[in-house]
Amino acid sequence: MRIENIPPSSTKLDAAALIGEKRHYFHKGRTVDISWRRQQLMQLRKLLQENEERFLQALHQDLHKPHQESFVTEISMVLKDIDYALKHLPKWIKPHRASTPLLAQPGKSYMLPEPLGVVLIISAWNYPLQLLLSPLVPAIAAGNCAVIKPSELAAETSVLMAELLPRYLDSNAITCVEGAVAETTALLEQRWDHILYTGGSGVGRIVMSAAAKHLTPVTLELGGKSPCIVAEDADMTVAARRIAWGKFTNAGQTCIAPDYLLCTRAGANKLLPKLKATIAEMFGNDPFHSKDYGRIINRQHTERIAGYIKDGDIVCGGKFDVDARYVAPTLLCNVDAKASVMQEEIFGPILPVMIVDSLRQAEAFVNSREKPLALYVFSRSEQLASGILSRCSSGNACVNDCMMFMVAQDLPFGGVGQSGMGAYHGKHGFKTFSHYKAVMKRSNLLDVNLRYAPFNNQKLKVLRRLG
Ligand code: NAD
Repeated sequence: MRIENIPPSSTKLDAAALIGEKRHYFHKGRTVDISWRRQQLMQLRKLLQENEERFLQALHQDLHKPHQESFVTEISMVLKDIDYALKHLPKWIKPHRASTPLLAQPGKSYMLPEPLGVVLIISAWNYPLQLLLSPLVPAIAAGNCAVIKPSELAAETSVLMAELLPRYLDSNAITCVEGAVAETTALLEQRWDHILYTGGSGVGRIVMSAAAKHLTPVTLELGGKSPCIVAEDADMTVAARRIAWGKFTNAGQTCIAPDYLLCTRAGANKLLPKLKATIAEMFGNDPFHSKDYGRIINRQHTERIAGYIKDGDIVCGGKFDVDARYVAPTLLCNVDAKASVMQEEIFGPILPVMIVDSLRQAEAFVNSREKPLALYVFSRSEQLASGILSRCSSGNACVNDCMMFMVAQDLPFGGVGQSGMGAYHGKHGFKTFSHYKAVMKRSNLLDVNLRYAPFNNQKLKVLRRLG
């Protein structure tokens, strides 16, 4: 019996049967065929294009995302991933030449990308469409079978994904399993050929320990506190706009949102009034009524985020409504480094400002903490910005902007240290879901007997010379 998409909790998930079916199909070799990969990618594009309106509605219901924001940060991101993969696939699947030493001549050496097999993709709720489908694109491009698990917290998007996927994609190879902890736990008990997980580091540890039992490689796309250093020489008008966009898109529920600002007192005096004005420009004097401002995913997160407001002096915002899952875009100053807002990932629309005596102190502050997923530097000085990037480690970085590295398909997206391991996007995603098999092809023409017994000093001498 073929297993269709699994509805949450109503049907008992038989994860062993599911992966068995996928493995069986993988071994038939259908997914390795480039025409299958291309056709599936085109079908995925069709799925998004034909159902755009329904996805926009679902994302609005889950997170109150404005349609334009959903299109730019979710749908169009995946469409671009698909087009990029379709364009470059013929090049990606080609064997990569490597040099062949004299000792192995005549011969040819190369790396042959091959699919890993059956992969599991587990995603988070904050960009429920993009975080599920963006990794699926390279998984398909690399010729794998895949099981994808959307987050149960973005319930409308999850249901829609489960409904549509089997109508467009090859269900023998790709299945969407809805569900929460029980279903994910059942999936994690199985032996996968790769797991790509997006979410918090607590569950990241669960995923990695489950994978370790089977020696399954993992890509962990985690989070953390991404600092934003603003130098006094920055273009404050542009910085204010870009920081406000980076922080308040999706009501701050973005893994690469600037988590907090680091600037000198003089820098803050220039930046904060502009930030305050920008927030009003973007969302009006009462963002509660703005059609362009999102909501928090659920009550629990709203309460958690609202709890940070007391950790500093309010420059603007500060209002919240737990029933409406609303937290206003909020700027906080005079924040203590030991306060919760500076200890935990905020993942919401609160932007604390830490005052430092110098940018060297800002760097030391960043380096005293876990390596962040993203680091932002605003300065007109190329030298200053490059210096900071060279001394502070982070998964990704942007100078004079926030989050924009996401649109460069050639750049790998991933964390470092506690913010994650491995990466995807573009060719990097294809590599993540491929094994590069090292191959040497020898000719039968010349079979020098130097390496064969019986050994003698003469042979050793020649071998030494050949290296
Ligand atoms: P979440 O609660 O949706 O969890 C992520 C996934 O893990 C879900 O599919 C969920 O069903 C599953 N899960 C939850 N508890 C589990 C358990 N006990 N066992 C097995 N599976 C379980 O998402 P979240 O963790 O709240 O996501 C927010 C975090 O994700 C933030 O830290 C954010 O920075 C990070 N994030 C990172 C990226 C990235 O690309 N690096 C993107 C988005 C979010």
